Amino acid sequence: MLQVPNGSRAGGGQHPLKGKRVYIPPMGYGSGRTFAAAFRAIGLDADITPPSDHRTRELGAKYTSGDECYPAKVTIGDFMRVLEQPGTDPSKVVLFMPTAEGPCRFGQYATYLRLVLDRNGFPHTQVLSPTSGNAYDGLGDLARPFIRTGWRALVAADIMQKLLLRYRPYEVHKGETEGVYAECLEDVCESIEKSPIDPPVQLRALREALVRARDRFRGIPVRRDPSTPLIGIVGEIFCRLHNFSNENLVRRLEEYEAEAWISDIPEWVWYTTQEQFRKLKLAGRLYSKEALGAWIRKWIQHRDEHFLFQPFREEFAGHEEPSIREVLDYARPYLPVDGAMGEMVLNVGKAVYLAHKGAAGIIDISPFTCMNGIVCEAIYPRVSRDLGGIPIRNFYFDGTQSDLDRDLGVYLELARSYQRRRKPARS
Ligand code: SF4
Repeated sequence: MLQVPNGSRAGGGQHPLKGKRVYIPPMGYGSGRTFAAAFRAIGLDADITPPSDHRTRELGAKYTSGDECYPAKVTIGDFMRVLEQPGTDPSKVVLFMPTAEGPCRFGQYATYLRLVLDRNGFPHTQVLSPTSGNAYDGLGDLARPFIRTGWRALVAADIMQKLLLRYRPYEVHKGETEGVYAECLEDVCESIEKSPIDPPVQLRALREALVRARDRFRGIPVRRDPSTPLIGIVGEIFCRLHNFSNENLVRRLEEYEAEAWISDIPEWVWYTTQEQFRKLKLAGRLYSKEALGAWIRKWIQHRDEHFLFQPFREEFAGHEEPSIREVLDYARPYLPVDGAMGEMVLNVGKAVYLAHKGAAGIIDISPFTCMNGIVCEAIYPRVSRDLGGIPIRNFYFDGTQSDLDRDLGVYLELARSYQRRRKPARS
């Protein structure tokens, strides 16, 4: 049996991923790090791909045809950088490429990556793409502890990111928040990796690490200014969270003295769960074994999330995330939520929610040619009209952005003017 930390056991026999290293392309830096720690918690070697740079774009362009979306280009570029590192044995490399059903090209990327590897002399490099649809193929007996640990890792990263965004724009000493964030992330990753995999013990240990993080953040001297405009960030999940792809848009917004509220990864997880139930209902299988499993998973995930968020009530007061049902209800007047699936529904619904929570503007970050972004862009003018003229703007990225600073400066002026007109002001 494969041994996992602290003597717990998960899985039988010699696990096929043992002796290999799983590489994760991080969407957000923090979530990538905690997710890699979740792999290590179940006894597998894992790390994130090295930080993206110009070589990422070069290799991405070399190994793709030009028709793919920008996130595919970036992740393939980063994977190829791993494989070109001197001394790398491609047969010991496992590339993690999540997949999902949906109306866009994302569902094809794992298959496409396999094709790219086979055509370019890496037939022995494995692609790991576990989903409920393929019974978490590749993880075998480790699937169950991984799903739970992975979820907790994502929630923890989400909390950390929210702390970063709540403190950084107001710090008195420039750079201090990022220093604290880095320390706390290290601590949280260590807790995920080293605490026993036993669910209650693991959960308590993780919450303790998060409380330590909260207390460190509370020690950062800040000067909060209620006139700081809050900007809601929605858009394509990879591009909005991957700083290299979106040219550090959030950092630049903060340079203009704004605060950002970014749609997180758990939102997507809750949405896919909701979709699973909708499809089960359509197929008349709401009372099946599969549905029961999904209900149990949903209940456990809710409970874990609630437990981890509990110590942060004060920090996130006024910044509470909506339930997925609320988001879909807000989207309903603009899109048929059961027909127009995927991120476009989430982005429109979340934009409305954020406006109700006091956002002075909404930015949609999408890759150039992203179908979701294009549909949303057509809908936003109506959303804006219905919300008293809140400025909503799409920013598209493909690695060739021209003058983002200038565009953000103009946009922020519109947001400030909307904030002055609007009543009531931000809570
Ligand atoms: S969401 Fe947009 S960028 Fe992402 S795969 Fe779909 S179409 Fe491409």
